[in-house]
Order: sequence, then C-alpha cells, then structure tokens
Amino acid sequence: MTTPNEKWEQYKTRPRSWSQLTSYESCPHAFYLERIAKVWSRPAAWFATGLGVHTAVEAHEKGEAPTVDDMLPVAQEAFRQDINTRLESTPNAEYWQSSGTYHGPTDIPRRYNDLRRHLENYLMIPKGPIWMAPEGDPADPGRTPAVEWPIELDLDGVQVIGSADQIREDGDDLVPVDVKAGSQTPEDPGQLATYAEAARRGSGRSVTKGVYIMTAKPPTKTGRVSKAQVVEKDLTVIPVETLTARFHAADEGIKAGNWDPKPGHQCRRCSVASSCDFVVR
Ligand code: SF4
Repeated sequence: MTTPNEKWEQYKTRPRSWSQLTSYESCPHAFYLERIAKVWSRPAAWFATGLGVHTAVEAHEKGEAPTVDDMLPVAQEAFRQDINTRLESTPNAEYWQSSGTYHGPTDIPRRYNDLRRHLENYLMIPKGPIWMAPEGDPADPGRTPAVEWPIELDLDGVQVIGSADQIREDGDDLVPVDVKAGSQTPEDPGQLATYAEAARRGSGRSVTKGVYIMTAKPPTKTGRVSKAQVVEKDLTVIPVETLTARFHAADEGIKAGNWDPKPGHQCRRCSVASSCDFVVR
C-alpha cells in the first residue's frame, strides 16, 4: 500500500496532463485527497458514458466498427466494465453521485440505454479526414491515423503528456477534435489548445481552431446537425505562453505540496467532498 508521502514523491516527478492541471486548478485540496491521500471517491455513472462513447468512437475511426450496430456493443462492454469496477469500491449505488434527479440505481441503466443515441448523434456529424500522423523513426516515419493520438510536449521544462481524441484535416490546417459525452460544453478550450500545440510541433502545420463534438446534444427538430452538437473554438486566443504559465503554476504547486482548499460551486460535484472539512453545501 502506497503511503501519501510516497504518492506525493511519485507526483513530483511524473509528467503533467490536462486532467492533473484542471483538477489542481479547480481545487488543490481535492487533488490531494483524490490522488495523493487516496480517500474514498464517490463514484458516478457519467464516467461510464464517457468511456463507452470514446471506446466506440475510437473503434469506428480505426475502421473496426463501421456502423452504429457495430459500435453499440463496444460502447456497452466498456460501460459495463467501468460500472463493475466502480461497484467493487462502492457496491451500493445509492451512495453514488446523482445526475440531477437520477440517483445511482436509476442513473446507471438510464445511461446504458442512452448509449445508442450518443453514437447516432456522433455519426450524423460531417467531419474532415483524419490526419495521418508520422510514427516511428523520425528519419523515415510511417503514418498512423491520429485517433487517440499520444502527445508529449515540453513546455519550457514541464513535460505534458496526453491523448488527443482526433486530429483532423481542414485544408492545409489541422484541427484537434475532442468528443464530449457530457451535457456541458467546456468554457475553457485549454485542452484543445494543448493538443493544437502538439499537432503544430508534430506537423509544422497551422492549427487555429479546435472542435468539441457534443454527443449528448440533440439534432434540430428537422433532424439536422444542431449548433450545440458541434462547437468550434478559436485557439488563437490562447498563446502557448499562457498554457505554459498554467502548467508551470500547477507543477510548482504540486511539487511544493500546496493543497489549499478552494471551496465553491465545484464542491457540488466533488467526488471526495465526504473527506473534506471545507466543503460548501
Ligand atoms: S469539497 Fe470543495 S473544498 Fe473540499 S476538496 Fe472538494 S472542491 Fe475542494
């Protein structure tokens, strides 16, 4: 069993990720409780929706699941596995986080039965071709489709790793695409900007915008793609210096063990609130 001090030592030296950055920025104390102290974390079924949709979309874009009927079992299997893993830590779903008025025991089957709708929404959206990224020997690279494309960035000494859902072509430009199964479109497009910087460095091509595909959002009443389903973000407003400063601030805070609480609206969906003395209810 790893002690909190051992866990902290590991976090001091490991590369950063978008998930670490946003978790730390949102509330350093939650970062500490969840990732370092490893207290009980209240499960939520929406993670299984995200995993199911992502796994099926990846299979589709790699040519392994051409139709929605091929994608659905892939999504369902990933969903079931995720739920079963979370049930091991918290077998009584009454203790899980609620989605609005839906408590765990009703939220799980509701979300399972909603997977096909997410996939149909995804498939109806027109998309540019997937970029074929260089792979292997830099002197004589092969090409691989940029789906779940692994990124490694050096931001002035801070190493950042991650995995971009998709990098697509748009004429001479490249466009990072992130598939979101949740209902909230991220206000902060920093994740897309991070992948954009990796794509610029990996291709030498221009990247000026990114796209969120929101699979939970419905089409228009006439069956067309709605504005809520495809959300474009201008990434020229986030210079790499801004991203670098954010990652450096989080990196320094984690290394220094600054775990100050940031009570606020984020407490409502905080999975470790039951172990926090500063929670705002
Ligand atoms: S309950 Fe609020 S203050 Fe406490 S760890 Fe969670 S987000 Fe931070």
